[in-house]
Amino acid sequence: MLNIALFGPPGAGKGTQSEKLIQKYNLLYISTGDILRKEIASGSELGKKINEITSQGHLVSDELIMQIIHKTIAESPHVNGILFDGFPRNLSQAKLLEELMEELQMPFTGVLSLEVPREELIARLINRGKVSGRSDDKEDVIIERLKEYESKTLPVAEYFTKKGNFHPVKGVGSLDEIFDRLVAEIEKHRK
Ligand code: AMP
Repeated sequence: MLNIALFGPPGAGKGTQSEKLIQKYNLLYISTGDILRKEIASGSELGKKINEITSQGHLVSDELIMQIIHKTIAESPHVNGILFDGFPRNLSQAKLLEELMEELQMPFTGVLSLEVPREELIARLINRGKVSGRSDDKEDVIIERLKEYESKTLPVAEYFTKKGNFHPVKGVGSLDEIFDRLVAEIEKHRK
């Protein structure tokens, strides 16, 4: 069984690599960002509230994120494992992830982190914004998202590093090169 969190700043390529990983390992994919965007697109009251927060580049509440995750898991009870994308995003979510794994009696394989230099991230996100139509892929919001990442999300890296299950992977190069690095890292650490 393989349960991984794909980690990295906005624009690191988590979504793209996730698609390849879930196919190869047949995993349940939980992208908290994708689920939030679906809720926004539905036009619900909840979606409107979420949009106010995400369009400023800020993080939504841990309670909401955990509700989303529990619901997604409950809808797919028999899985080979889970790939989390965009979660955990802060220290309290890191602890909630460990609790969740215990509750589900699933082993946590570890965090794979895509490492990409800041200038490259900004360039990638501005380019993505031209085609994605995402309201948070604009330069001022991108800077805010990177700030949130640096202040709230980076401590997650330190937390799992101390536990020995944080595995950095170089996130520049061709899609296939990056994918091969991720797979090599997974094979080293799978239980
Ligand atoms: P992403 O697609 O992962 O970049 O997420 C887009 C936006 O959704 C983020 O900038 C946050 O506003 C929100 N979001 C996604 N995942 C989380 C999370 N785990 N905790 C809090 N907010 C999140």
